[in-house]
Amino acid sequence: MTEGRDTEGRGATTAGEIAPGSFTLDSRLSGALGGRTAQAFERGFGHRTVGDLLAHYPRRYAMRGELTALATLPLDENITIIAEVIAVGERSMRARRGSIVEAKITDGTGVLTLTFFNQRWRAADLRPGRRGIFAGKVSDYKGQRQLAHPDYELFDDAAPLEAGDAAAKRWAEAPIPIYPATSTLASWQIAKAVELVLDGLAPLDDPLPASVRAAKSLLGHREALELVHRPERDGDWKRARGTLRFTEAFVLQAALLERRAELRTHTTVAREPVPGGLLERFDAALPFTLTGDQLEVSGEIARDLGEPVPMNRLVQGEVGSGKTVVALRAMLAVADSGGQSALLAPTEVLAGQHLRSIAKMLGPDLAAELMPTLLTGQLPVAERKKALLRAAAGQSRIVVGTHALLGDNVSFADLGLVVVDEQHRFGVEQREALRLKGQSPPHVLVLTATPIPRTVAMTVFGDLDVSTIRELPAGRAGITSQVVPLAIRPTWRPRIWERLAEELALGRQAFVVCPAIEAKVVEDEGPAGAASAAATDGEGRADAAAPVASVVAVLAELRDHPRFAETRITPLHGRMSADEKDAAMRAFSAGEIDVLVATTVIEVGVDVPNASAMVVVDADRFGVSQLHQLRGRVGRGSVPGLCLLVTSAVPGSLALQRVEAVAATLDGFELAQADLELRQEGDVLGAVQSGGRSSLKLLKVARDGDLIAEAREMAQEVLEAGGGLASHPALAAAVRRRLDEETSGYLSKG
Ligand code: ADP
Ligand code: MG
Repeated sequence: MTEGRDTEGRGATTAGEIAPGSFTLDSRLSGALGGRTAQAFERGFGHRTVGDLLAHYPRRYAMRGELTALATLPLDENITIIAEVIAVGERSMRARRGSIVEAKITDGTGVLTLTFFNQRWRAADLRPGRRGIFAGKVSDYKGQRQLAHPDYELFDDAAPLEAGDAAAKRWAEAPIPIYPATSTLASWQIAKAVELVLDGLAPLDDPLPASVRAAKSLLGHREALELVHRPERDGDWKRARGTLRFTEAFVLQAALLERRAELRTHTTVAREPVPGGLLERFDAALPFTLTGDQLEVSGEIARDLGEPVPMNRLVQGEVGSGKTVVALRAMLAVADSGGQSALLAPTEVLAGQHLRSIAKMLGPDLAAELMPTLLTGQLPVAERKKALLRAAAGQSRIVVGTHALLGDNVSFADLGLVVVDEQHRFGVEQREALRLKGQSPPHVLVLTATPIPRTVAMTVFGDLDVSTIRELPAGRAGITSQVVPLAIRPTWRPRIWERLAEELALGRQAFVVCPAIEAKVVEDEGPAGAASAAATDGEGRADAAAPVASVVAVLAELRDHPRFAETRITPLHGRMSADEKDAAMRAFSAGEIDVLVATTVIEVGVDVPNASAMVVVDADRFGVSQLHQLRGRVGRGSVPGLCLLVTSAVPGSLALQRVEAVAATLDGFELAQADLELRQEGDVLGAVQSGGRSSLKLLKVARDGDLIAEAREMAQEVLEAGGGLASHPALAAAVRRRLDEETSGYLSKG
């Protein structure tokens, strides 16, 4: 740690000793910075190489002349600010031996106190009138805001002496990069490390082909790195960021296209239905006609399956748009060719439900032939053994399960197709696990009910082919959505349960959804847990510390309520055993239960046509797409659905806007776009990504859609021309780095 004593501003050079040409982007940081510092970077940010560090871009830029507003600094967060010292003093401690140096710094209005114990020399250092960067955690001490033992670096009192007027002006105007920092690595320490590696960097080949750079009028890579880290004026870092942002998009798209091409180099067995076979029999017995979109997507899948190259296709479609039927038709085509299919569901409940609905759709004759089997981790030993045998012997043509299906002990006679319901946590190494299960890699079909805006699909699933089902089957009665904003209309509260009672009086069933199981216990089962939705943005709730509505509390309230004396009410949440959950779902499906009080375990795939009403309590605790999917549980039959979104979020807050956005439309694609726009910095990819895609640095999917699309097109042209990636070694290296990073990111998520 530097002690903040050396007082050079950023204008001074740090490393005379490092010879230019000492490092490449792939050099280990330990060689450049020394073991201890390199370790701090690895621990703090996961940086291992010079390239990793150089891609640690400043979060923002500060000016020497501009002081940071102190009034709005958040408590208990690591902050980096520019301020001026106005007073400094030293006193002895009362209770113990030793001294305290206290300095006051200001932005011109607010004041922050810095305290140092037993460091008397600080008093001489922190002279009034001096300016610098200060970093630390803001705490509240007896009503005063302070930084205890902050790190700081003071600016020179004046421009470098030897400099002329022009140089002095340049010095005064140079933006100071402010880096994302940690408690052990302050922003300026990062800046110094970056300078060191920039000074020692060998000449760089550009990852972007010259033609692309010229077409987009971009800077060279080296220059862009230089200007993003050591700008002399504002325009510098702006241009540098533009170049680096495009480079990021281009390399990412090239990497995705490359992986897609790589997947297509494997060969596998083509799967085609046989005339008069299982698929034809299924189609003939289908009680409805497929929608146009279902037919089109089915056609795309059939074409993929008919090729000796493994399919990697994502089917996205509204809840209830009929994806399951489409997937089942693919399984039947595979069964026709003698192969088996595995269906992976995100939870035990959903696996069980999938099995039941598949059996139902197949009808008794086909079910007897195909022997659909459940295989999950929680099956009793005897049943599990039986299921394993059926899979291994090939008797069971359709095996439905959770991730237990990927386990080493599960084998298939001839696994031809894997259907993944919801893409969560399914990625490179799962594909690898599956590839090892057969002679040849299976075809992969991923289903998602989370509508994904085009650019997100391009970014997150750029290595998959995407099919979309937009059209809903005819005859749906529709859903009415209504926000109940308790912060504005507290008197509406009693109406919520009245309205629920009215629905039940019509002989219908209902869900009541809560974010938590009991007070403070947020449900984490389900693909996109409520926990993450709540955690990503704590903004705008009436009282962030207010208890979260819980299954336990709401269940008790309903059971006590006079209107529900006759109502059969049951909980459903992730703390119940698989058997209990299954029993609750079954009873609900069979109409033996009127109201399920549940967490998000009911999120995806639950299909009970008589369930017409849903009340979501503390709806602002859920994400937009989660609410949309929850709502999709009602109004699935011919009965009109009602969805009450209850929230205490304050007027004008983002939290309330999100809930209102959900109520305003039933169009999942529109909502996905709205969601993208309502999330600010947040992890846009979080909602749809499978754990391992590494995060984006300068790209923002919500904002940079056009740029991403353009980069993809240009990357495709480059890869398809002449020698492809091989004729662009620097791009190939960047692509390899990106792919390595993603794979290791995946593995580290476990
Ligand atoms: P998803 O998996 O996309 O949520 P499902 O495949 O579960 O949707 O279909 C929802 C319901 O609609 C099921 O009961 C299914 O039988 C029915 N369904 C599917 N396709 C059609 C169609 N073309 N016409 C009428 N009903 C359909
Ligand atoms: Mg489904």
